[in-house]
Amino acid sequence: MYTYSPRLVSVRPELDRLAEYVPGESLEAFSTRTNIPIQEIIKLNSNESPYEPVPEVLAALANYKQFNLYPDTDSAALRQALEQYTGVEKRHIVVQHGSMELINLLWHLFLSPGDNIICCPPTFSLYKSVTTFCGAHVIEVPRNPDFSLNVEAIKAAITPQTKLIILCSPNNPTGNPIRQEDLFALLDTGRIIMVDEAYVEFSDFPHGYAHLVPEHENLVVTRTFSKWAGLAGLRIGYALVPEWIQSYMRRAQCPFEVNMSGHIAAIETLKHLDATLQNVQRIVEERAHLFEVLASYPFLKPLPSQGNYILTFVDQSLVTIKQLRNAVESHGILLRYFSSQPDLADYFRVTVGLPEHTEKLNQALQGL
Ligand SMILES: *Cc1c(COP(=O)(O)O)cnc(C)c1O
Repeated sequence: MYTYSPRLVSVRPELDRLAEYVPGESLEAFSTRTNIPIQEIIKLNSNESPYEPVPEVLAALANYKQFNLYPDTDSAALRQALEQYTGVEKRHIVVQHGSMELINLLWHLFLSPGDNIICCPPTFSLYKSVTTFCGAHVIEVPRNPDFSLNVEAIKAAITPQTKLIILCSPNNPTGNPIRQEDLFALLDTGRIIMVDEAYVEFSDFPHGYAHLVPEHENLVVTRTFSKWAGLAGLRIGYALVPEWIQSYMRRAQCPFEVNMSGHIAAIETLKHLDATLQNVQRIVEERAHLFEVLASYPFLKPLPSQGNYILTFVDQSLVTIKQLRNAVESHGILLRYFSSQPDLADYFRVTVGLPEHTEKLNQALQGL
């Protein structure tokens, strides 16, 4: 007879130190907590696009019928379209269902138990949880006061077990890009340098660092359709990688991992690129407007951003984060707070939405 207690098998020991990645609160959870109906909520906490996918994309999804068939495991059509879009040959391109899954896959390729990665907080917190899942460790090298990278400190922190250095450009949540000279200095360390370009389309250099990938054996750039193309719900991203890494990634991926709808939506987005880039342009313009609105309050100090979000410092001697949060939530507005990250305790992050969202936020702040 089997007995289940004590358990014969337990999970890998490192999983006990696995912290759950806490995403921005969902519409459903916020609605349940506040009693505000979902359709009245303004969701500015996860950097989603306020624009639905363009009509051509929606039509292509509606018109496709053959969901009874598996998708193309080579993602040939999408990789061809991405070759055009990025200017990087398709032998360097790997498609995955979202860039977070790309990060997961790359981490599993390189990290064995006992290895480490370097990351530079404040930054995207997912990098940490994925590392623990691999049995590896995170070495944190804080950014300079202006949130630029402390390259000398990063180099000094490298150990023989350091496999990856993860950079985010523009950085979530601080909004600043990685300087090219810093990237080159880190490439010289020989470690795998990962640049997460989830927001590059909103920046002043929308081509990012993709073009450098074919010239470097240790540079990986990840991208996503989630933010700029308004496809967060369909989970589609891609990486630009050296050829030797591409072959391992392809083998490590599950077959048919990337779903058909994601493929269709991404291909159609690239076919009708101008329409989607117009939405990106609207968001970039609204970012300037939102920045002005935030800067008009004596208790707020927004930081310049190249993403579709603005990190904002709150002078808590004038207004506390709690007061601010209560005020905006009573207006149905969701922002991102960082109570679990001490380095960001005095900040909130707001996603750039529609002009009327900025107006609503302005009204909520006027009550403070
Ligand atoms: C939103 C975000 C992603 C998410 O990408 P998906 O393609 O939706 O998985 C990746 N990196 C950063 C820094 C992000 O903010």
